[in-house]
Amino acid sequence: MSHGQSSDNKPPKRFPLMLDKVSSQAGGNRSRSSPAAVQREVLRPQAHLHQVEQDRRRHTVPQGVGLDSMPVRLRMVERLRADGITHMAVLEAFARMPRHLFVDTALVNQAYEDTSLPIGLGQTISKPSVVGTMLQLLCARPGLTQPHVDLARPLGACLEVGTGCGYQAALLSLLARHVVSIERLRDLHLKARSNLDVIRQHVPTWQDVRLVYGDGMVGHAPQAPYDTIIAAAGGSALPQAWLDQLAPGGRLIAPMEDARGQGQVLTVVDRLPDGSLQHTRAGAVLFVPLKSGIT
Ligand code: SAH
Repeated sequence: MSHGQSSDNKPPKRFPLMLDKVSSQAGGNRSRSSPAAVQREVLRPQAHLHQVEQDRRRHTVPQGVGLDSMPVRLRMVERLRADGITHMAVLEAFARMPRHLFVDTALVNQAYEDTSLPIGLGQTISKPSVVGTMLQLLCARPGLTQPHVDLARPLGACLEVGTGCGYQAALLSLLARHVVSIERLRDLHLKARSNLDVIRQHVPTWQDVRLVYGDGMVGHAPQAPYDTIIAAAGGSALPQAWLDQLAPGGRLIAPMEDARGQGQVLTVVDRLPDGSLQHTRAGAVLFVPLKSGIT
């Protein structure tokens, strides 16, 4: 089964946008920012390009691959933007994260296509547009309007279920205060560990990710609660542990089998400040199944 393939019709092109729309689509509380703050947000692409250039100087492209990854990566970012991913921090994370370092050498030339790719053991690295949609949704979590929130790290304390090769965990690390990522397949857990060892040397301002080998269906209680929870595998119901470990103002996003047997639906659950849960659906998707136990 392929993973992370959106079966939605492509969203209508929403670019170019009016500047005021860019800031409000950029997520959460930014729509309520002062005019000065809005201007800062709009100006961030320059800062982002500057940062990308700094990364490029530190960055080495794999020997023999002949892929100058930065221009290719920036083209992928432009495609994501044209497809409606407009949150600047999310685009910046994609621009900075070398996806080709997470895939097998034979697949490097496809690393910046909008496609899911095999990572071994029947699993796949998610399609960038699906990852981007999920990250952008997480970046609009309800708790972002609280005054103490660090807007540079909009995902706060983040739990990922399904580490896979570690690519999405690495993106999360640029958007979160800290990340816990769980994988049930030991060999993939170890692969992600070695991938992130490489990435750590390439990407500055990286927040370390705590990789856990275990069954993500029980979440990870020692570091709960989480402001954001993201699952890369879908089951027939949301595990109670995830809901229990979601902080007030937090948002969970996970694929879930449709009750009428019509495939998977991306499900968003917000824990509102009064503690109640609000469920919404964000389109049809196709992810690998969520399985219990470890292997
Ligand atoms: N985010 C990953 C994609 C992972 S594919 C990446 O960027 O590469 C989904 C992963 O979820 C698979 O590796 C699968 O083994 C894992 N998975 C499925 N059920 C799980 C569970 N109960 N706990 C932890 N991981 C699980």
